[in-house]
Amino acid sequence: MEIADLPVPPDLADGYIDRGIRELYPPQAACVEAGLFSGKNLLIAIPTASGKTLVAEMGMHHQVGRGGKCLYIVPLRALASEKFEEFSGKGLRVGIATGDFDRRDEYLGRNDIIVATSEKVDSLLRNRTPWLSEISLLVVDEAHLIDDPSRGATLEMVIAKLRHKNPDMQIIALSATIGNPADLAGWLDAELVESEWRPVDLREGVFFEECIRFSDSTRQVERRSKYEDLDLVLDTVAEGGQCLVFVSSRKNAEAFAKRAASGLKLANPVLAGYADKLRSNAATDMGKTLAACVAQGAAFHHAGLSREERQIVEAGFREGQIKAIASTPTLAAGLNLPARRVIVRDYLRFNAGEGMVPIPVREYRQMAGRAGRPRLDPYGEAVLIAKSEEMVDELFDCYIEAPAEDVRSRCADEAVLCTHILSLIATNFARERGEVLGFMDGTFYAHQGESPRALSRAVDRVLEFLRESEMITEVGEWLEATEYGSLVSRLYIDPRSAEVIVTAMTGQKDYTDIGLLHLLCSTPDMPTLYVRRNDMYVLDRFLADHRDDLWMEIPWDAGEGFDRSLKTALLLSDWADEVGEDVICERYSVGPGDVYGMVESVAWLVHASRQLAGLFAPHLKAPIEEMELRTKHGIKKELLPLIRIRGIGRVRARRLFNNGIDSIEALREAGPEKVGKVLGQGIAAQVFEQLDGVRDEIANAGEEQSTLSRFG
Ligand code: ADP
Repeated sequence: MEIADLPVPPDLADGYIDRGIRELYPPQAACVEAGLFSGKNLLIAIPTASGKTLVAEMGMHHQVGRGGKCLYIVPLRALASEKFEEFSGKGLRVGIATGDFDRRDEYLGRNDIIVATSEKVDSLLRNRTPWLSEISLLVVDEAHLIDDPSRGATLEMVIAKLRHKNPDMQIIALSATIGNPADLAGWLDAELVESEWRPVDLREGVFFEECIRFSDSTRQVERRSKYEDLDLVLDTVAEGGQCLVFVSSRKNAEAFAKRAASGLKLANPVLAGYADKLRSNAATDMGKTLAACVAQGAAFHHAGLSREERQIVEAGFREGQIKAIASTPTLAAGLNLPARRVIVRDYLRFNAGEGMVPIPVREYRQMAGRAGRPRLDPYGEAVLIAKSEEMVDELFDCYIEAPAEDVRSRCADEAVLCTHILSLIATNFARERGEVLGFMDGTFYAHQGESPRALSRAVDRVLEFLRESEMITEVGEWLEATEYGSLVSRLYIDPRSAEVIVTAMTGQKDYTDIGLLHLLCSTPDMPTLYVRRNDMYVLDRFLADHRDDLWMEIPWDAGEGFDRSLKTALLLSDWADEVGEDVICERYSVGPGDVYGMVESVAWLVHASRQLAGLFAPHLKAPIEEMELRTKHGIKKELLPLIRIRGIGRVRARRLFNNGIDSIEALREAGPEKVGKVLGQGIAAQVFEQLDGVRDEIANAGEEQSTLSRFG
């Protein structure tokens, strides 16, 4: 099927043809035949890199051509930016929504395509954003993530709510290969397009004792080093390919990158250039190790890296200079970096409470799917490593030849039901118990036919919690959200978190930074740090001196949960006290990317707690508002006036302050020349341009920007 014959705008078709895309891949042609352009719902379950995004893009242009509006849901923020860039500049207005959760973002409705995370769409629904009812095409990327234990239920509810709102909307769901695609397609009333076709051949095999066994052939791997896994890398590189190596932990990723660097020993000016850039940005030992590895042609990649570090590593790999990346499996979903050979070195992973468990088949497929760069590699190879002869067959059975797991609904979990049922009531989707159950009937959970009685019992327990915490009231049959309940729903926090926060705040006379941070780190919405044995000394010492500053009682059976919350609160308190990033990373054994993640999560909770204080503890509102800016930017109170200026973050504000410039007035007094000496002439000019403007505008701009953007 030729691109030129399809009902898509000529400019889009010409753009594809210029990129060498003239003909549809077979699964893409199957999508057209299944009704892509005639409004049919589709579930496209085909391997990675076989052209799903392109199908969705054509569908969106076709819809917009008929006056429609499209919403493209992605699971991760990083993917939202990637898709936003991919869809932009092709004749349509494209918007992206990933930011604050309590906004309606009405301006976004001006776009033809809106790319958003599922959480953001959920929050837009809760805030009753009007343009959502104009959506005529919904694209759900990575639809198999409905099965994700922590976020799957939100995705499922968002799809159910949007369908409820817009019954005629077309749905295109993109999915990895799954065990029960017909089930998911049935729920979505979708035509199923399923295929194993790939643009580059994939050979899957198991390595044991210098030999990779594929299902129909073998390949000898020359001994070039002391390590088998390294031999596998060197073997590919000797033939002009690159490798992605998936390992089970960050530590292993770093260790393997070091090993690969000393095995590869590459050296050239381009690599030296990357290494210099990494070294000059490196705030931590991890950054320095990364620079040293990259100088020799290897790298590691995990969530602890800062945004700059990730970008340099990814660019270096795409340009073919970095030959091997060792990565944690969590990145398999987001990492769009094909390589000739993918080595799945560790197929066991540590799960809290379970110990080492084998990774799911779907995850293996996602990693293996990265093998082979279309048009660049003659084939792709995915290789598992066996530790014994018997394991060779086992790995074939458990991964290479195993069917992918079924996708199951996660809606039965009460914790997630609680937040979603509150939002159904607060947004008038459901006004009585029967309507709540009726709505739940349209979910994948109900479609899968899992015990309706269990669901109705869970719904009753949730309604009871919401009534008892006074988030909803019941008049006769009629359910209504209280002011408190509506606020919690709009703020997009777990109702259980809201209860923890409100209970502690109402009993609290005096404000303390650590009291607030520790409280927020004790809510289910906050990810917390792992506590090592030698952290205990620091925690105990802190408690000996500051026990009274905490807002929550220390439970007599305080266990790991308490320690984790306290350690995380101490990190955040250091951040707000301007402790250097390098010191924080060292002190808490984290990477800059982790600091970013935690600051981002807590900043939202501080914001939410300020709003809750407005209702329940007005005396705490002003200090919490200050803390909101302090956590966002990582600054002490004395820098608050300066941070309001665009382009001034924690480092520049501190430099100004240390030079005696501590306010907007002081800036004006100092003048461009003196400020130029402190910040450089370029920045000083920007600052004074703003000072010439209206004062209120400066204040607003200060709210918008965040020091976080440096990390994200
Ligand atoms: P997926 O979303 O399934 O991972 P993409 O749509 O991102 O895959 O496609 C992967 C790559 O293949 C992209 O670089 C894309 O431009 C290219 N591609 C997609 N369809 C075709 C086609 N019909 N012919 C040639 N290249 C294509």
